[in-house]
Formats: sequence, structure tokens, C-alpha cells
Amino acid sequence: MNHKKFTIEKNKKYFEKFLQIPANKRMILVPQCLRNIKKCRAKEFGSYYICAECGGCKICKISQTAKTAGYLGLRILKGGSTVKKMVAELKPGAILGVACYFEGAQGIKECEKRKIPVYFYPLSKDGCENTDLELNNLLKLLEEKNGK
Ligand code: SF4
Repeated sequence: MNHKKFTIEKNKKYFEKFLQIPANKRMILVPQCLRNIKKCRAKEFGSYYICAECGGCKICKISQTAKTAGYLGLRILKGGSTVKKMVAELKPGAILGVACYFEGAQGIKECEKRKIPVYFYPLSKDGCENTDLELNNLLKLLEEKNGK
């Protein structure tokens, strides 16, 4: 499977549905490889972390913006398979998922099984650590209101 092509097609399919879900029912999931592991003070909860907003990496701004936008929550996942646990625990109406193309494709499939509208935002640099993303467009996406 071409994971990039798959995620682009699914984004086209689900974007409108994603936007129809109010922000307070949306959840954002980001990968742990974005953390600055030398500085990170995120609290660990089994399969995920919650950002302490220490300012050590881009997740800080993402977390703050998600809160301001009224999001249900942000979780830093240890792997794509933990999407299942997040969904069971928080029952989001929609998910904004940040990941590499491979993990993104797995996450989209998990959401499809549960009929949860999902929008995937790819990392600009992937890998096991010190990954990166284009921040401004993600922040704009977080601020998108429902009903558009
Ligand atoms: S901003 Fe959050 S995720 Fe990033 S290094 Fe600090 S506590 Fe960790």
C-alpha cells in the first residue's frame, strides 16, 4: 500500500465530516517522537503521555492551542496501536491525528472501524525521535470551527 496516497484520499473523504464535529468533541493525537526527550516533563500514563507544556518542543504550542480551541484533549501516543485505547477512554467524536504516513494509515483504519471522522496531519520529518512538523498549518486546523 502507498501510505501517503491512502492518507491523502482519506483526508479528502473525511475532512468535511471532521469539521462538522464541534471542537469540544475532537481530540488531537501526536506521536512521542516529537518530544524533546532531553527536556520533556510530560506525564506518562501507560500507553500515552500528557504534555506538561514545558516549552521544550512544538507539542507545547499545539497543546495550548488545542485547549484554547476547546478540544477534548491532546494525547502523546507511544504508537499507532494505542489509538484504540484513546477511543475507548475518551470517546471522541472526531480525531485529528499527527503521525508519519505509515502510522497515520494505521490510525485512519482504526477510526474507520469505529466510524470516527479523522483528519491526518503528516510529520514533515519522520523517524524514531527528533521528528518535526510544519506548525502554522496545524494550528490553523486546530482553530477551525465546526459547521464550515
Ligand atoms: S512541551 Fe510537552 S511534550 Fe514537549 S518536551 Fe515539554 S512536556 Fe514534553
